[in-house]
Amino acid sequence: MRKRTILVVEDNPLNRSMLREVLEEDYTIIEAADGLEGLELLEQHYTDIALILLDIYMPRCDGFEFLRQKAKESKYDTVPVVVATAGGSKVELTCLELGANDFVLKPYDFDIIVNRVNNLIRLRESAMIVNRLTWDADTGLYNKEFFYRAMEDKLLMSAENDYDVVIAEVDNYASLLDRHGEELWKAFIKSFTVQVNGLIPDCIAGGRINSHVLGFLVPSTGRDWEKALALDKEALTLSNANVVFGVVERVDHDMAPRKSCSLAMSAASTIKDRYGVHVALFDDELHKQQMLEQIIRESMETALGELQFSVFYQPKHNVHTGHIGGAEALVRWFHPTVGFISPGLFIPIFERSGFITKLDLYVWEEACREVTRCKELGLPCVPISVNASRLDFDLPDLPTRLAELADKYGVDHSHLHVELTETAYSDNPQKVIDTLGELKALGFNTELDDFGSGYSSLVSLNTLPLDVMKLDMSMVRKATELNDFRIVESTINLAQVLDLETVVEGVETAEEAKRVTEIGCDFIQGYYYSRPLKRDEFEEYLRNDHMSASKGEDKA
Ligand code: C2E
Ligand code: CA
Ligand code: CA
Repeated sequence: MRKRTILVVEDNPLNRSMLREVLEEDYTIIEAADGLEGLELLEQHYTDIALILLDIYMPRCDGFEFLRQKAKESKYDTVPVVVATAGGSKVELTCLELGANDFVLKPYDFDIIVNRVNNLIRLRESAMIVNRLTWDADTGLYNKEFFYRAMEDKLLMSAENDYDVVIAEVDNYASLLDRHGEELWKAFIKSFTVQVNGLIPDCIAGGRINSHVLGFLVPSTGRDWEKALALDKEALTLSNANVVFGVVERVDHDMAPRKSCSLAMSAASTIKDRYGVHVALFDDELHKQQMLEQIIRESMETALGELQFSVFYQPKHNVHTGHIGGAEALVRWFHPTVGFISPGLFIPIFERSGFITKLDLYVWEEACREVTRCKELGLPCVPISVNASRLDFDLPDLPTRLAELADKYGVDHSHLHVELTETAYSDNPQKVIDTLGELKALGFNTELDDFGSGYSSLVSLNTLPLDVMKLDMSMVRKATELNDFRIVESTINLAQVLDLETVVEGVETAEEAKRVTEIGCDFIQGYYYSRPLKRDEFEEYLRNDHMSASKGEDKA
């Protein structure tokens, strides 16, 4: 092991050489003949020096002055000083005031010196290790575990007071680090910490929860957090940093700090994509939502086994015939305790967990059953569109699975349409192109869902093997709002150029139906014609439509 270094500052050459003799076996010794020389050596070697042995009375610059100068530089703080004095409490007191750590008496007793030096160095080093474990070097805040400990202590000790937990998170941390590098990031997080601290001067403890998340425990004062956490973005050293705050007010004293911080983080995560909103409180609404998400995750498998999911069918109106031209299968969940849960809520959760592929398979099978039932009931058969999630396209055998299902129920492949949302395309374009190609080769129709919902890329349109384009309902909403259907019109024109049929979704009024019909869309799906219907209701709809068709009525 490399020897630790001791700086001996002593004007008497005999003393210096005797000190060197007793310490040299264990330490590297550097010598200074007075305080000035000592300060120079300190500047050159302070990162290596484990201890300074300092004489008081020396020419040019004495020990007092040496201590005074040393105290001016905080970078020397970690180097302890043992002062050699001839005794006298006044001198010792002055030295202590100036930052000395220990004393040895003159004339030197070398056994004592060696022991004092060894002890002090060992003590210092263990203190530094504890220090490093406790404090985060970049921000000066507690490290995570110590922060949680500090929070726990505070909450335990002052049960009568209320506290809020604040989380500050740099959302785009990875890209900042990538773009600006480690050094600039470190400088940023340091100045960011200072800035956030300035917003909560009454903060009791602060900690670095991970590289880009800071946590703070603050007394509850009922302050307006939106205002209190108005960070001056211009003053950030990386001005494109995306900062969000999450707050839990009046934390439960019995809740583990880790948990309350994670609640604050989950509040923050709800505003990550929201422009102009930078503070989120963990409130009852969010709490309910989290509970519901948890219920959804815990009960999805059972729900499928217990047939809690049912499939509804929403008719698509064929503009050219004036009658039903198809239907979309939409899943519904009636939970035994929670009641109806919207697919808008559970589908994203199923997509995250991968469960969606199981559910979709179930919906496809139900859709096949329904086609067969309609046939058996003597009802006109219309094609049923089923939704395929992004994850279904990752399956190695989506087309064969669908074909096997259809064949099992004797359903003509042309009676099944597959709807793919545009987000699926952006993940793995080639896989999606190949799969759609295989589906078409097997005789299934392919539809691009939600076109114009924000993810649309025109490139996808002529590379994907498609039959139908479904215009997202937001396009109709916007057109009605602006009383301007030009975008709907040019989108339909574009589809026509590419030889695609068009479905306009979300048509709710007679006026909207009239406008999109005039523009030339092929199918309309929306509340104006029908909401998604239960199986029986759907069959009734088909029956009525069939009767009016045979009477020659045209509802277009
Ligand atoms: P989507 O595929 O775009 O389905 C259309 C959604 O619009 C349906 O909502 C439908 O009920 C609703 N809708 C239809 N007409 C109108 C209208 O005139 N006005 C308004 N405001 N809404 C209308 P739903 O059933 O809540 O489904 C939401 C989304 O959940 C679907 O959007 C789809 O992405 C997903 N989803 C539903 N069922 C399934 C499924 O079985 N598998 C997969 N993977 N996703 C599904
Ligand atoms: Ca759809
Ligand atoms: Ca859609």
